[in-house]
Amino acid sequence: MSEPMRAPKGTFDTLPPDSAQFLAVRDTLTAPMRRAGYGYVETPVFEDTAVFARGVGESTDVVSKEMYTFTDRGGRSLTLRPELTAGLMRAFIEHRLYSGALPVKVWTVGSAFRYERPQAGRYRHFTQVDCEALGVDDPALDAEMVALAAQGFRDLGLADFELLLTSLGDATCRPQYRELLVGFLGGLDLDEDTRRRAEINPLRVLDDKRPEVQARLDGAPLMVDHLSDSTKAHYDAVRQHLTDLGVPWTEAPRLVRGLDYYTKTTFEFVHSGLGAQSAIGGGGRYDGLSAALGGPDVSGIGYAVGVDRTLLAVQAEGLDVVASAGVQAFVVPLGAEAKRLAVRLVGQLRSAGISADTVYGDRGLKGAMKAADRSGASHAVVLGDRDLADGVAQLRDLRTHEQVAVPLGELFERVRATVSA
Ligand code: AMP
Repeated sequence: MSEPMRAPKGTFDTLPPDSAQFLAVRDTLTAPMRRAGYGYVETPVFEDTAVFARGVGESTDVVSKEMYTFTDRGGRSLTLRPELTAGLMRAFIEHRLYSGALPVKVWTVGSAFRYERPQAGRYRHFTQVDCEALGVDDPALDAEMVALAAQGFRDLGLADFELLLTSLGDATCRPQYRELLVGFLGGLDLDEDTRRRAEINPLRVLDDKRPEVQARLDGAPLMVDHLSDSTKAHYDAVRQHLTDLGVPWTEAPRLVRGLDYYTKTTFEFVHSGLGAQSAIGGGGRYDGLSAALGGPDVSGIGYAVGVDRTLLAVQAEGLDVVASAGVQAFVVPLGAEAKRLAVRLVGQLRSAGISADTVYGDRGLKGAMKAADRSGASHAVVLGDRDLADGVAQLRDLRTHEQVAVPLGELFERVRATVSA
């Protein structure tokens, strides 16, 4: 016999009953954008490699080290999406959504793939929720975005998270600031890797998580102190709206994002119960992304939340996010006659919107009652041949073990009324 197969390194399966938590987290995170009128978009899981090379940026770790790139049988270079924004932007441009009413507000959820070193909270296949508002540069929209992400976390009951916020300036003020920073970094004794990073994108050195690097950065010039009048006014307005929306934040002047296109508002949500991989979501405004993908020169703002990491946060806080696992009613047929009735009753209940299940295969009374107990149902319907001959079935409360005989003609209605009560 050959070795049993395993899921690839850095990936995992989500199985019942834990999968119910995953679904609850995913759906709770997407509910705020649905309520805010954002439209759902589905894009392919793979794109032409250029979409990410240009849309995420050649200099980023994601593009230079982490992409799953392959050549298909037609000789095209394709890449499994490492994030969801670039694909949404490609669709926005391809379908000329920018020529309609703006902003275009969209969301999506699905798999992302990165060849990263696996550890708790960092996987090679993970799920992201993504939300974007394209084509308008309005600070109220930045605040709406941040508030939508925060709402999802709050709706899950999460408390131990923090919103980090800053502004990265724009083309009018960032180049001067960048020079100041390059000058400052040039005077520091940095290791080879960090020096190289400083050459490609000096801002990213500020976000280095290593304490010894952070210690050297004391006194580094900060973008927020060098904002132009217009980007400062933009940032002030964002903060005013966030206050009005009741969303607290922490100023994080050294926060940068992996993408080179981020401008103005930039934010990240971190959770204190997750160890090293503490970011549960993040985003910001970007100018230039649309143009980089061959579209018009329009601004956009968006965020991505990691469903898997948010689930870890939910577990770290010991929250119960699954309202009710399992089914409401469980039907136990004893004998051939009863089997037909059971299949029909389960079908009727499901059609009426009641979750129901029955046993399959020959389980015997004991096995069937065990299955009923495990199903999560509050009630079981026991269909015995002798009862059926008398025209009744037993409706059993699985919590109190009390049961009553119900005439078959009333059975469906009685079950429905009982489990819905
Ligand atoms: P990013 O696109 O890197 O800003 O990531 C957005 C969010 O996706 C992060 O805040 C994480 O919650 C999640 N995420 C990113 N990379 C991974 C990964 N390798 N495994 C699990 N979650 C991830």
